[in-house]
Amino acid sequence: YDDRDGKIWMDGKLVEWRDANVHILTHALHYASSVFEGERCYNGKIFKGIEHSQRLRASANMLDMEIPYSVEEIEAAKYEMLKANGWTDAYVRAVAFRGAGSEMGVSAVGNPVRLAIAGWEWGAYYGDAKTKGARIDISKWKRPSPETIPVAAKAAGLYMICTMSKHAAQAKGYSDALFMDYRGYVAEATGANIFFVKDGEVHTPLADAFLNGITRQTVIQLLRDKGITVHERHIEPSELETFQQCWLTGTAAEVTPVSSIADIYNFEIGALTLDIAETYERHVRA
Ligand code: PMP
Repeated sequence: YDDRDGKIWMDGKLVEWRDANVHILTHALHYASSVFEGERCYNGKIFKGIEHSQRLRASANMLDMEIPYSVEEIEAAKYEMLKANGWTDAYVRAVAFRGAGSEMGVSAVGNPVRLAIAGWEWGAYYGDAKTKGARIDISKWKRPSPETIPVAAKAAGLYMICTMSKHAAQAKGYSDALFMDYRGYVAEATGANIFFVKDGEVHTPLADAFLNGITRQTVIQLLRDKGITVHERHIEPSELETFQQCWLTGTAAEVTPVSSIADIYNFEIGALTLDIAETYERHVRA
């Protein structure tokens, strides 16, 4: 994705897409000292842009990093990048990372914290699953304990097992994989949160061991506004067979129905799933 026309905002200024490079001894490349955001701009306005910028700074702090730009400066940089590329509808990817310093090693004291903001036009994350429902597998990897890694950070290190799980799932013809957490509870997919419907009520895993998605929080609020009961709680894998509908949420995924998990648990793309997907779509463009 490096050889194309366009502009990327990097360390305070716009650079040509092909020139947005880092040195091979960049600390982040070796030690995962990197945090990022995925956001969507709809009709010229980034949905919950400020919340994403705040989360980016918070993720950096969890990794002992301080981004040298304020939320306001990050907001301005995102719009500068979008304008330079002529986009009103695009995905926005901000990434903050430790660069190369005067020494190389695990310690990064004194290494500059750098910030880059790129974007691209990105349609439906799960392709035609948006209407047909995604078939997802179950990962052999577990979301780690908060005592192992800062699970609330949107940090590169947490994505190593996401890429491995996604590849394993895709190799078997699935769109994605669902993780259990370190305790065995149902957690999230590799880049999206998960929801279930049972007898008209919604159940979603408690976000105590994975990213509490901004889309997840938005969807919970939209459901409660409709008067629908939402239970945020620990969900056992044995409960999967009791749920009638299922969907994934994420900035890129938006609301994507799930038709089956591991070809064992099947779900209907029911009225509530279709309704919340449409409500979300209207909400982000409002
Ligand atoms: N979990 C993971 C692992 C993710 O990568 C994402 C996408 N950022 C989400 C959940 C959903 O988060 P959000 O709704 O904030 O995009």
